[in-house]
Amino acid sequence: MVRTILMKYGELILKGANKRSFEALLCNRIKARMRRLLGEDGFEFECMQSTLYVTPKDDSMVEEAYDDLKKIFGIVSLCISYRAEKNIDDIVKVATKHIPNHIKSHRSFKVDARRSDKTFPLTSPEIMSIVGGELSEVCPDVKVDVRQPDIVVRVEIREKYAYIHAGAEHGAGGMPYLSNGRGLLLLSGGIDSPVAGYMMAKRGVEIDAIHFESFPYTSERAKEKVIALAKCLTKYTDKVRIHFISLTEIQEAIRDNCEEDYFTLILRRFMMPIAERVARRYGAEALITGESIGQVASQTMSALAVTDCTVNIPVFRPCIGMDKEEIVEVARKIDTFETSILPYEDCCTVFTPRHPRTKPILEKVEKAERGLDREALIERALATETELIVER
Ligand code: ATP
Ligand code: MG
Repeated sequence: MVRTILMKYGELILKGANKRSFEALLCNRIKARMRRLLGEDGFEFECMQSTLYVTPKDDSMVEEAYDDLKKIFGIVSLCISYRAEKNIDDIVKVATKHIPNHIKSHRSFKVDARRSDKTFPLTSPEIMSIVGGELSEVCPDVKVDVRQPDIVVRVEIREKYAYIHAGAEHGAGGMPYLSNGRGLLLLSGGIDSPVAGYMMAKRGVEIDAIHFESFPYTSERAKEKVIALAKCLTKYTDKVRIHFISLTEIQEAIRDNCEEDYFTLILRRFMMPIAERVARRYGAEALITGESIGQVASQTMSALAVTDCTVNIPVFRPCIGMDKEEIVEVARKIDTFETSILPYEDCCTVFTPRHPRTKPILEKVEKAERGLDREALIERALATETELIVER
C-alpha cells in the first residue's frame, strides 16, 4: 500500500503576480517540515495543478506527517489518499481494499471521479459507476446516494497516478508563513497575546516576540511560561525569536513618582515605544498585541488612544473584536490555554492601581508622568535586552 497526502492551497492566494512566490514559500515549508520528520530522502514531494503531494516512503509515518502538515498555513484542505496505478483494475483493487474502512460506519456514500489526465480511457461517470458498483458489493449495508451521501469517495486521475480517498479535512488555512512581512508580538503570559500571534502568523506574518519582565516582581517561572507559549506557536512557525526586556527600573520609577490611578497606562506608554524600537532594530514593520476592546481598563477606546500615540508604527490587535470565550476557543485549539492559565504574575499585574482610569485624558497622563525622564528610562530598558530563539 502506498499512501499520499494530498493538499490543496485554494484559489485565494493564486491572485496576481505573487502566485509563484507564495507557491514557492509553501512548497519550501512543506519540504522543510517533512525533511525534519522523515529525513532528507524519506518522502516524495510534488506540486501540480494547485495540489501538493507528499508520499512518505515509510508508510507508518503517514499519520504523523499528516498532523504536521495540518499546521502549515496556506493549505486549505488535505486528506490521506491511497495511490493506485492508472488503470481501472488497480483503482478498483485499491478502492475495494482500503475504502470500506472509511465508509462502513456511514449510511450512504457516492463516488466522485475527476480526470485531470483526459487521455485516461474511461470518462469520469464511467469511473464513478464502476468503482461505486464494486464498493457496493463489498459494503452492501452502505447505500449509494448521489444526492445527499454521508460520505463522498473521490477518485482523482492525475498525471502519474490515481488517488482514492474519502473525507478531506480543513487545513490550517491562511497564507503561507513568511509571505506578509514581520511583526513584533507583545507576548505576555496571558491568554490573548499568543492567540494574537497565531492569528497574524496565519495571515503569513513572521512573528518575533518581545516580553517585558520585572524581576524580582516577576519570577523565573513567569519567564518560562512565556517560553512555553512561544514553543506552542512554533508548531506553526517553526521558530520564534523572543526579546526580553526588563521593566523593573521603569516600574519602580512609576511607583515612586506617579499618581497611582495612572500606573498601568504609564507603564503601557513605555512598553509601546520600547517595542517600537526593538521592532525597527530587527526589521519588524508592526507591533501586535492581544488587546480586546473594553476587556480591561487599559483597553478602552480612550486608553488605547493614550498608549497608541506614543508610537509611530502600525499596531495590529487581531483580538480587538473578540469576546473572551472566542479567544479561549482559539487558545484551546492552538494548545496555549493550559499554559496561559498558570497563575504566574505579569509585569502588568504588579503595582496595579486600585482605581485605574477608564477614560484617561492625554494631558493628565502626560502631567502624571512629568517626574520621569522618559527617554533615559527607555534607553536603559533597551540596554537590558536579551534574546532567545525558541525552536520547534
Ligand atoms: P493577555 O491575556 O495576552 O496577557 P491581557 O488581557 O492580560 O492580555 P494586558 O495584561 O492588559 O491584557 O495586556 C494587553 C496586551 O499587552 C497583551 O495582550 C500583550 O500583547 C501586551 N502585554 C501585556 N503584558 C506584557 C508583557 N509582560 N510583555 C509583553 N507584552 C505584554
Ligand atoms: Mg496579560
